[in-house]
Amino acid sequence: MSNGPIPPHVDPRKLADRTATLEGEIALADLQRLCSPLAANDGKVRAKFFFERDERNAVVFHSELEVDVKMVCQRCLELVALPIQSACDYAVVKEGANTQSVPQGYDVLELGEDPLDLLALVEDELLLALPIVPAHDPDDCQQPGGLDEPEPSEDEVTRSNPFSVLAQLKRDPNV
Ligand SMILES: [Zn+2]
Repeated sequence: MSNGPIPPHVDPRKLADRTATLEGEIALADLQRLCSPLAANDGKVRAKFFFERDERNAVVFHSELEVDVKMVCQRCLELVALPIQSACDYAVVKEGANTQSVPQGYDVLELGEDPLDLLALVEDELLLALPIVPAHDPDDCQQPGGLDEPEPSEDEVTRSNPFSVLAQLKRDPNV
């Protein structure tokens, strides 16, 4: 059990051999790709990884990530603090290996001789966990319902619909 800074690079095979757990925090500011869609880069990711060999003797690990991020609410354009959680199971395979034996529910991670870039993995996983359209809870939002397009005026509807124009022509006794 290791509790401290998460090492940026690890050898998952060695960690799995000793059924290791890594637990610690990563500064958001160290994860630049993750920070780019965020409104602020202060804060820390709480990360936990369990490495083991499964019944196939293959290297697998489980991730648990938690972070509070600040994004811009797409309804009211004010900051919204969002708790982000992610958990994932990874199966490590050799580069080019047959992945058919990987059990369902695992993300396949091809790894050659190089160590695993754990920070990049954390970044990728959290980027996927971010909401596509960040927004406050409707009860907390300055502008609830503002996400909807404004209703088109009746004029616009008439003009954009050729059939209603036709209907009007038919109704016009002068045509
Ligand atoms: Zn809002």
